[in-house]
Amino acid sequence: MLVVMQAHATDEQVRAVCQKIESLGYRAHAMPGATRTAIGITGNQGEIEPGTLDELAGVQEVIRVSKPYKLVSRDVKEDNTVIAFPGTKATIGGKNFAIIAGPCAIESREQAFAVAERVCRAGAQFFRGGAYKPRTSPYSFQGLGEVGLQIMAEVREQFGMKIITEAIDNESLDLVEQYADVIQIGARNMQNFSLLKRAGRAKKPVLLKRGLSATLEEFFMAAEYVMSEGNYTVALCERGVRTFADHTRNTLDLSIVPAVQRLSHLPIVVDPSHGTGKRNKVTPLSRASVAVGADGLIVEVHNQPDKALSDGMQSLFPEQFDDLMVQVRQIAAVVGREIVGIGSSPKQKQAEVAPASVR
Ligand code: PEP
Ligand code: MN
Repeated sequence: MLVVMQAHATDEQVRAVCQKIESLGYRAHAMPGATRTAIGITGNQGEIEPGTLDELAGVQEVIRVSKPYKLVSRDVKEDNTVIAFPGTKATIGGKNFAIIAGPCAIESREQAFAVAERVCRAGAQFFRGGAYKPRTSPYSFQGLGEVGLQIMAEVREQFGMKIITEAIDNESLDLVEQYADVIQIGARNMQNFSLLKRAGRAKKPVLLKRGLSATLEEFFMAAEYVMSEGNYTVALCERGVRTFADHTRNTLDLSIVPAVQRLSHLPIVVDPSHGTGKRNKVTPLSRASVAVGADGLIVEVHNQPDKALSDGMQSLFPEQFDDLMVQVRQIAAVVGREIVGIGSSPKQKQAEVAPASVR
């Protein structure tokens, strides 16, 4: 169910409706929009008795949301979600085209700084890198754990880029939430429902990657898990799905970008690195991602890809990333997007502790 408030409804009226919903044992999710606030109701099994809410002051109408996903849907929030990072100009969603780059895994301080220096110079606003790696083999490099997170925090301190890193279970999420600016949930965990709920209680934005064979609806339902716990700062990420094609590691499904945007207000970024698994295909598909209307890119870059401890084959050399940025900037301009500098203010330190906001 969805309560649509009148355009001139006061904050107090919104609060009163939320309180009423909670008193009925449900959860209220107020979603302010440009013209009006909508309040999503979750936790109810059936319809709420007519008259219970539509008689309250400031309520325009109470409507049934027929889709299984609600908070993700444009029915609940018409305007695009823009995740802002206080103290910087960077956003995920909105006019800015988000650039997230870095190695697959943080391997050492030297490696992280070498890559960070290059991607920052080329224009990345966010630095990626795994401290906890979900590897197919238990014998492969599993990540540096908290040491990796500390290195990322140093990268933020030094370069001003916001940091994004993956949590693979509830334990690592506690730590990732402390250190990172964005919590990544990997493809293999897209339906790890307890992890999604934990991410929903986190105070940091979540980048949710599409599962290896997830349909659009399953992808949305995973995001709904996070949002239903009260975290509305969610960005989706297309990273390729498993198909019969064997010329690439995965098949990058760019058609999901307009499909997401039609039904949902959440931003969607594209990962052409995992989406193709091959270095020579990353730049062409980055161009296509901008053109198709994605809200950003997440790209793997390594200072020595042939020595990388994970995903070397798909990691760009820094010079290739420079070139990618030149091309992406040109296409971004054509589709009405811009790539802002991170623009860290002297308040950067403060911004690091301030939670990201959604507008
Ligand atoms: C990654 O970003 O390095 C990663 C493991 O991605 P995915 O979960 O999409 O495989
Ligand atoms: Mn990787």
